[in-house]
Amino acid sequence: MIKHDKDKLDDFNEEIIHCNDCTRLVDFRTKVANEKRKQYMNWDYWGKPVPGYGDHMASIIIVGLAPAAHGGNRTGRVFTGDKSADFLMMCMHQVGLSNQPNSDSLHDGLKLNNCYMTPALKCVPPQDKPTAQELRNCFTYFNDEINLLNNATCMLALGKIAFDACLRFWRSQFEIKVKDYPFKHHAIYTLPNNFHLISSYHPSPRNVNTRRLTKDMMVKLLSELNKYSN
Ligand code: SF4
Repeated sequence: MIKHDKDKLDDFNEEIIHCNDCTRLVDFRTKVANEKRKQYMNWDYWGKPVPGYGDHMASIIIVGLAPAAHGGNRTGRVFTGDKSADFLMMCMHQVGLSNQPNSDSLHDGLKLNNCYMTPALKCVPPQDKPTAQELRNCFTYFNDEINLLNNATCMLALGKIAFDACLRFWRSQFEIKVKDYPFKHHAIYTLPNNFHLISSYHPSPRNVNTRRLTKDMMVKLLSELNKYSN
């Protein structure tokens, strides 16, 4: 039987969930899941790699850094159950990219519109700082994942590490120079195949609380994504 793209993506995500390639990250995600944060003591933490989710036929791919220790690593879904998720989903809902303004758990009814979200690194790293080797290990998954999302026409990278993973992907497709693609907020680059690569500050509490990234900035950027989508 021929496998459809959604089945292939589901199989691929199932494979990711069982990955144990990075010893340090396996130890850390398990430790966080066992020790738990006080307010989530009754929560059954996910504690595994966190795959992407959303519309497999989406035009827009949103790329984050990695699951948060008590966000994605707890709930099993990227940008779910933490302050970054609260901010991002409120903004996404405002521009119609999601059906609701909250992202709390796997069973909260969230649906993304024409949008797929994924972390560049599928396991939570200590202090949100992955090693170069860990990023290389997980890039294999990221590369395959982007190739499976073959309806996409634009990619929004949230933060420098996510942006670097996106650039790495495109450098494997074309002869492009990193220096021509500096990371900054609201940079919109057109690649040789007319795909749009867009960069944003990460919606972390640090960036939001210091107003480096405001709701208006995020909503403005997200509202422009439709211009670059089918
Ligand atoms: S970060 Fe990626 S490659 Fe490393 S253990 Fe997690 S899923 Fe596997």
